[in-house]
Amino acid sequence: MSYDVLANTIFPDINREPQYFIEKYPKRNLPEGAKVTRYAPSPTGFQHIGGVFSALLDERIATQSGGVFYLRIEDTDQKREVPGAIDETINTMHMFGLDFTEGMTGDNTFKGEYGPYRQSQRAEIYKTFAKDLIKKGLAYPCFCTPEDLEALREKQTADKLTTGYYGEFASCRNLSPEAALERINAGEKYIIRLKSPGNFEKRVEFHDLVKGDISFPESNQDIVIIKSDGLPTYHFAHAIDDALMGTTTVIRGEEWLSSLPIHVQLFEVLGFDRPEYAHTPTIMKLDGGSKRKLSKRKDPESAVSYYNEVGYPMISVIEYLLNIINSSFEEWREENPTVDYHEFKVALDKMSKSGALFDIVKLADVSKNVICRLKAEDVYNYYINWAKEYDKEMYELVSSNEAMAKEIFNIDKEGPKPRKDFAKWSDVREKIFFFFDELFACDEMEAIEFPKNMDMAEAKRIIEAYAKAYNFNTDKDTWFEELKAVAIELGYTADRKAFKKNPEEFKGMVSDVAGCIRTAITHRSNTPDLYTIMQIMGEEKVRDRFNKFLSL
Ligand code: GLU
Repeated sequence: MSYDVLANTIFPDINREPQYFIEKYPKRNLPEGAKVTRYAPSPTGFQHIGGVFSALLDERIATQSGGVFYLRIEDTDQKREVPGAIDETINTMHMFGLDFTEGMTGDNTFKGEYGPYRQSQRAEIYKTFAKDLIKKGLAYPCFCTPEDLEALREKQTADKLTTGYYGEFASCRNLSPEAALERINAGEKYIIRLKSPGNFEKRVEFHDLVKGDISFPESNQDIVIIKSDGLPTYHFAHAIDDALMGTTTVIRGEEWLSSLPIHVQLFEVLGFDRPEYAHTPTIMKLDGGSKRKLSKRKDPESAVSYYNEVGYPMISVIEYLLNIINSSFEEWREENPTVDYHEFKVALDKMSKSGALFDIVKLADVSKNVICRLKAEDVYNYYINWAKEYDKEMYELVSSNEAMAKEIFNIDKEGPKPRKDFAKWSDVREKIFFFFDELFACDEMEAIEFPKNMDMAEAKRIIEAYAKAYNFNTDKDTWFEELKAVAIELGYTADRKAFKKNPEEFKGMVSDVAGCIRTAITHRSNTPDLYTIMQIMGEEKVRDRFNKFLSL
């Protein structure tokens, strides 16, 4: 009996030949050098920052080469699937501006000529190729039970042998088609394995786009290609999909590097051209001096939702990830402060080969620069969008005082050293609360910050005197001269040298008086320019603040 009967018994409903699909998905017609990449997540629901890192790389490498970036959903492990996860993935990609040219657009819809781009909807394709391999004697049904495999593993471990289903240990490998058929007809459960042609003694030389030149022994494992549920394993689906979808560059986490020998072999056995591979470093974090993987359980920053909640602009996250991808991004950004990040050319061979370190402090730093570069109008829009969802009170206050809010966001923005007050939108409240009477009134007494060495009695004396002299309608220089005059009158000095020499002759410096006014107006000692704050508040509010302070 030939393998054909066996193949037809296993796949009675599969009537096409591989050639049908090879023709259905023709080679892509792209300019020289154009890369085709894919982001291929499993729909488990949790949007990990590592996924954005991967998708960003895929998108950049494709787009900057004039190629195609597509989204493929790898849902062959149906136990792990979470409803709604595909939409969440798509939303995340949109949110980060990682728009794909092809791929799933919903659970059952897609765009592009190479679909469906969801593996569970491609079962016929995988089965067609598996059936063909069985016909050629290159794949076979395996009837070993989980217990058989466990016993094998134990024996191999005890004998200090490589574990797995291979060579002499692959007991179903050499079953005749008749014997296999008999067991199938008897109702035994089975899966399909590749009959590996590999020789572990031989080495494969390989060039990885990130890791550089590497070599490894040929795979001799008879890996599972079709599971008992009829769906393929990652290995088999990867080879078939990336071949038929015309992927030129597989960019994926380095955890897949150890499976590369299997994939190299599968491409060969299936007769496909092999894509290039880039195995990217795992995102790590420093924890008490040692590095570890960013963990879903321990690190809130591993979840994309975290960035939404605390309000990092998506562009900040992207720019930070670009820093991790190529450390030269930072310098490029300094030299090109106003250029869109898409102009930066990502280079796979300049990626760190070991761990990529995720550092939230550095992210905050990058983000401060990003927000600092935004126009006040944009800061306002981003902020109210965020606040609408995450800080309703601020949303109401800021959006109903739009003109004032825009002035606030514009403070010290256009000068040579623009302020870098905000890393994330949740920082805004504490930095601008004092503009709003409602929030100012709720500020706790203990939160009020005074200039150094100044007590409440002296502070009130200053405010009382200053309130009398205060003139709203003046320019900044006159305002300061007037403030200085009050200060000197009260026994303070503008002469630093004189103060240093004989501090006992003075109550302090003019800056202490200014600081005191700042305290009365804002309750904080570190704020943007005081004159500007007072101008934005308007005379009435400023005078009201003086009165409130005096009645504390
Ligand atoms: N579905 C795989 C994963 O989520 C994708 C790996 C790949 O990009 O090939 O790890």
